[in-house]
Amino acid sequence: MVEDQLRARGIRDERVLAAMGKIPRHLFVEEHLRDSAYDDNALSISEGQTISQPYMVALMTELLELKGDEKVLEVGTGSGYQAAVLSELAIEVFTVERIETLALRARKTLERLNRKNVRVFVSDGSVGLPEHAPYDAIIVTAAAPHIPHEYIDQLKMNGRLVIPVGSRFSQILYKITKTPDGTTTITSTPCVFVPLIGKEGWDDEKGVYH
Ligand code: SAH
Repeated sequence: MVEDQLRARGIRDERVLAAMGKIPRHLFVEEHLRDSAYDDNALSISEGQTISQPYMVALMTELLELKGDEKVLEVGTGSGYQAAVLSELAIEVFTVERIETLALRARKTLERLNRKNVRVFVSDGSVGLPEHAPYDAIIVTAAAPHIPHEYIDQLKMNGRLVIPVGSRFSQILYKITKTPDGTTTITSTPCVFVPLIGKEGWDDEKGVYH
């Protein structure tokens, strides 16, 4: 997976490649999907949600530019896989999930893997997680209809936000950096994520937007 799917497609951050080589992805998928855990695609994790394709996890993680001493927020815990990868690369990881059953399962898996620097929360992450802000980096692993200002507010100066933004079924991955003058934005790649549902996201799974 690391060589064929990640390095061969241009992932260069050695720390990201090492973290993805270390975290056992098969423990984050349902038992009947274990044989497919390292395949080059997203997989279902129940509740209609998905664990992202390995390449997308690597790309988003690389864009966060983590050096090791950061405090990171992930929105959309899902299986907990992305949070586990982040836990190898940062000091402290806060991850928030709106569906309690997923959050509980992710917490269990992360405990089993002794990921002591990850904390899982159940709440609407479309408004961030203000009680633990500010963050050096925020990664949103669900599709947003727009960029919630809360994320920028909750970033430290020079902090990075990586977020897929667009319509319900197709988005563009953005990297936004908070600067003294406001923000700078880089567009990365087209992508498809499940919807961010909540106050600053979509109304429901069908993608109704208030
Ligand atoms: N990062 C995950 C995959 C994310 S799938 C992994 O590594 O497995 C996207 C997740 O975002 C889903 O579990 C979905 O329930 C969650 N989600 C959607 N809207 C949310 C919101 N407003 N707050 C928190 N989580 C949300």
